[in-house]
Amino acid sequence: MRVIKKILNKIAAVLFPRFCIRCNVEGELLCDVCKVFWVPVVPEPTAELTATFAYADPIARGLITAWKYSYDLSAFKILQQKIRPELGPLKQLVEKEGIQAIVPVSLHHRRRLERGFDQSELLAEFLSVELNIPARNLLLRNRATGKQAERKDDERATEMQQTPFQLAGLSVPERLLLVDDVWTTGSTVRAAIRALDPEGRKDVFVYTIAKGR
Ligand SMILES: [Zn+2]
Repeated sequence: MRVIKKILNKIAAVLFPRFCIRCNVEGELLCDVCKVFWVPVVPEPTAELTATFAYADPIARGLITAWKYSYDLSAFKILQQKIRPELGPLKQLVEKEGIQAIVPVSLHHRRRLERGFDQSELLAEFLSVELNIPARNLLLRNRATGKQAERKDDERATEMQQTPFQLAGLSVPERLLLVDDVWTTGSTVRAAIRALDPEGRKDVFVYTIAKGR
C-alpha cells in the first residue's frame, strides 16, 4: 500500500505540480527555505477570539485557500507545523478556564461530501491532540449555503440569523472551545454560539486559524 501511495504521489506531482506561495519554486506549497523565513502577521488577541494568523498575511491566506478550495491537504500540514509552536496562549486559556471540549463549526453534510472533508473538523481533531481535550461534533448545519467567500457580508449575516445550526447532541458541556478556519465578520461563529448556548449561560471561547479579511 505504501508503495502504491508513493507512486500515486509521484504521478500527482507530475500532473499537478505545486509551487511555493512565497518564492514560486516548484515542489511544495511552501518550500523549506520559505518555511523558515515566513514570519506570520499575527492578529491582536481579544477576549472573544484567539487566532494564529492575520488573514491579511498572504502566505497564511494562500495556504488556507489551497486547503479549502483546491482541496490540498498538504496546505493544512504546513499550517499545523506553523500553528503548533504558537499554541501557548490557547493552552493557557484551556487550562485557566477548564475547557472541556472542542467543537468544530461544521459544514453542511452536502458540502462536506463535495469537498471530501470538513476543514473545521480536521482542525478540531488536530487541536484535540495538541490540547489533550476531546473534540465533539455538536453542530449540524441546517442547509447548504453558497460559497461564503463570494458573498456580501450583510447577506451572510442575515442568512446566518435565519439559518443557524442545530444541535447534534443533547448534552453540551459548560465550557467549550469553538473552532473554525477563518473569522471574517464573526457571523457564522456567533450563529454557532447561539445554537450551542441559546441562554448565554455557558463559557464559549473561540479559536480560528486566521482572523480578518
Ligand atoms: Zn519558497
